[in-house]
Amino acid sequence: MSAVLCLVTVADGAADEVSLQALGAASALASGGAVHALVIGDAAGAGDLGAWGATQVHVATHASLTSFAPDAWARILADLADTLDVAAVVGPGSDAGNTVLARVAARLDVPFAANCTAVVPGDTVVVTRARWGGSLFEEAAINAQRAILTTQPHAVAKASTGGSAAVASYAATLDDADLAVRVVGHVAAAKGGVSLAEAKIVVSGGRGAGSTEGFAPIEELAGLLGAAVGCSRAVTISGWRPHTDQVGQTGTKIAPDLYIACGISGATQHMAGVKGAKTILAINKDHEAPIMTGADYAVIGDLAVVVPAISAEIRRRRG
Ligand SMILES: Cc1cc2nc3c(=O)[nH]c(=O)nc-3n(C[C@H](O)[C@H](O)[C@H](O)COP(=O)(O)OP(=O)(O)OC[C@H]3O[C@@H](n4cnc5c(N)ncnc54)[C@H](O)[C@@H]3O)c2cc1C
Repeated sequence: MSAVLCLVTVADGAADEVSLQALGAASALASGGAVHALVIGDAAGAGDLGAWGATQVHVATHASLTSFAPDAWARILADLADTLDVAAVVGPGSDAGNTVLARVAARLDVPFAANCTAVVPGDTVVVTRARWGGSLFEEAAINAQRAILTTQPHAVAKASTGGSAAVASYAATLDDADLAVRVVGHVAAAKGGVSLAEAKIVVSGGRGAGSTEGFAPIEELAGLLGAAVGCSRAVTISGWRPHTDQVGQTGTKIAPDLYIACGISGATQHMAGVKGAKTILAINKDHEAPIMTGADYAVIGDLAVVVPAISAEIRRRRG
């Protein structure tokens, strides 16, 4: 039994899914010991974390902490880890989580295990973690007094304990150096619609879409299904879609119930982003495209013909 501290990030007024998964790993590591959750700045959803395994929630505040500042977050996490004398610090394997936890490890001068898919508690914590975009899994023992790790998005189960946790505020100590790197503004995405990371259905296009205009049937199908539109890197590099739409190792990692990949070859770096998809439908004119090995269903044909035909059939059935 050891105390564990977990960073929880908040989106749209509640703890995000990947943080709840990290909290699940923290509970497993604690093996019945205290599970401390740390929320920085935005206290939204803090009171609900007991239901997901937290036994104590800390909400850190500081007058200068008005936006995401990774060094400041790392200092708060490292200071609280010392105060609570925890055996491990866990965080979500999101861009923000990995950025902060890497800094925590550097501050404490201990190793950092990013993107873990499984954790085994013990005097020496053993983890399985995704390497090279998920093309291999490494089992590693963390030889450090304090294990610092993040969980790969959608690879670790949430722990629905139904418990409750006390919420206490934590007055952070920061200086100017901690705030040198910080977010100074946000540029809203050009479109609204369904979030790629959270969508239950994603319809993606690849180089096979041919152009910006070639995405029109993909957008139409997505609209009919209430789906988000994604794409491959070949598409973002060509400037047909923004980087925020990119799925994969260097894009968004998704876990929809259904992933429809249109004109996408299925490169390792793309498939690294869709490992969490429950069902994959590939639409490709090449029956030997690599994506066929990972797809549950395939339609071999020209997407400019197949995708509008699916939309027409959906419309016909809906009357
Ligand atoms: C470090 C690194 C990181 C990377 N990160 C990512 C990442 O995050 N996400 C990502 O996607 N890629 C990433 N890549 C790039 C990746 O290796 C591939 O180059 C990319 O995924 C290919 O995109 P694509 O499948 O759209 O294009 P292609 O590989 O060119 O495939 C196009 C496919 O469309 C099919 N096709 C063509 N015309 C039609 C048509 N009319 N109808 C139906 N099918 C058609 C073809 O048969 C082919 O299978 C990364 C690469 C590196 C080196």
